[in-house]
Amino acid sequence: RFDVEVIGGGLAGVEAAFRLARMGFSVGLYEMRPERRSPAHRTHLLGELVCSNSLGADQETSPAGILKAELRRLGSPVMASADRNRVPAGRALAVDREGFARDLTDMVSSLPNVTVVRREVTSIPTGPCILATGPLTEGEMAEALRAVAGGEDGRFLYFYDAASPIVTIDSVDMSRAYRGSRYGQGEDYVNCPLTREEYLAFWEALVSARQAPRHQFEEPRFFEGCLPVEEIARRGVDTLRFGPMRPVGLPGPDGREPYAVVQLRQDDREGRLYNLVGFQTNLLWGEQERVFRMIPALRDAEFVRKGVMHRNLYVCAPKVLDGYLRPLGAHRRDLFLAGQITGVEGYLESAAMGLCAAMFMGCVLKGLELPHLPPETALGSLLRHLREARPEGFQPMNVNLGIFPPLEERIRDRRERCARYFRRALEALEAFLRENPHLDTAG
Ligand code: FAD
Repeated sequence: RFDVEVIGGGLAGVEAAFRLARMGFSVGLYEMRPERRSPAHRTHLLGELVCSNSLGADQETSPAGILKAELRRLGSPVMASADRNRVPAGRALAVDREGFARDLTDMVSSLPNVTVVRREVTSIPTGPCILATGPLTEGEMAEALRAVAGGEDGRFLYFYDAASPIVTIDSVDMSRAYRGSRYGQGEDYVNCPLTREEYLAFWEALVSARQAPRHQFEEPRFFEGCLPVEEIARRGVDTLRFGPMRPVGLPGPDGREPYAVVQLRQDDREGRLYNLVGFQTNLLWGEQERVFRMIPALRDAEFVRKGVMHRNLYVCAPKVLDGYLRPLGAHRRDLFLAGQITGVEGYLESAAMGLCAAMFMGCVLKGLELPHLPPETALGSLLRHLREARPEGFQPMNVNLGIFPPLEERIRDRRERCARYFRRALEALEAFLRENPHLDTAG
């Protein structure tokens, strides 16, 4: 009935559906919510952000900024919605969570050749299909994915990912908190300081607090970039002070840096909700309130969302995928994976893999050769990483300079170096689009 079926209306699915529609195809976008909800999603909206409301840094001096610029250039609906729903967050691009997802839902649902079908899909369709069911894929679809990934032998993987709690700003004791971004760059964050004694008592409580049970058959494998705060604390009494509670560059009103500090970042457009930055956690909900209220400014805080932790599925891309996001085990030209399950990590990286899957699918359907995205671009680098990374110990990958081909000359200054990567990436993308004008569907 549709030219393409896209399964999963998350960041990757929405990006893919939008792009395929722009290329002139009819798309069925299947989303199981609200009929069935993953343990982390809360709404029926497409493109819901399950944890932080930050999409990362947004300058040309950061690798995440390179990816954002490429997505903007390619007309990404996720970026368009993020730009329209921005909230203050220093140099990061953070969004009003609900406004972002609502905007994205409206954008995609209003396209005449996209039909949003609200139901759970339990097997892989036999026609052209992009699977974008996300890291929380469960049940029969998880089994179907495991089958195309080739079963048990290190091809179908998981780690644990956690989300941070959110509090209302009215319930934060501002007499014990102060505003300021690190190194004096603005006023966007609310900082909750702790003295040495308060910190040590908090640390003791955190490492001994009770955690939510996990299924017994699941080993706790964490992703280093998103460790639960209690797990970081267990590594040593000071590890938090070098991580999410780092006080450096955050002097208080008296001009002195506190012993430790918890930062709160705005989570909605009105500025009523704030999340605890880097405080993703798997503590039991009652324990979260007990322990986090030991932070003086949060003594009477109202926790409107508790932290949660979930199994995060992905495939071992270098073994499972063909370099164009197609699972080798399926022996099909018209079945692509997209999003976090491909082995990338992060909201925009997931959206980017939706965009690439759609681009490849479009070429298959038009009988064109599959394009080779230049490795100098963030998109090309992510794809190259999925193709060429060592399969042993493969972990999902954020965009970072390490996955780009090195520059020809050595540049010491990190920001200048990154800016050079940025310019090279956008030039390479423009050259690619000049050679493949049919893929330039922005605007
Ligand atoms: P999703 O956005 O999860 O979309 C998948 C969609 O498919 C969902 O809407 C789901 O309801 C639907 N679906 C699933 N199965 C079916 C089915 N069988 N039939 C129909 N529909 C189905 N990344 C960050 O950058 N920052 C973070 O703070 C962050 N926190 C995370 C916290 C947790 C708990 C998890 C699990 C991941 C987190 N990630 C984070 C990683 C990742 O960026 C997000 O999970 C991102 O949403 C992945 O995008 P996606 O499109 O692949 O999947």
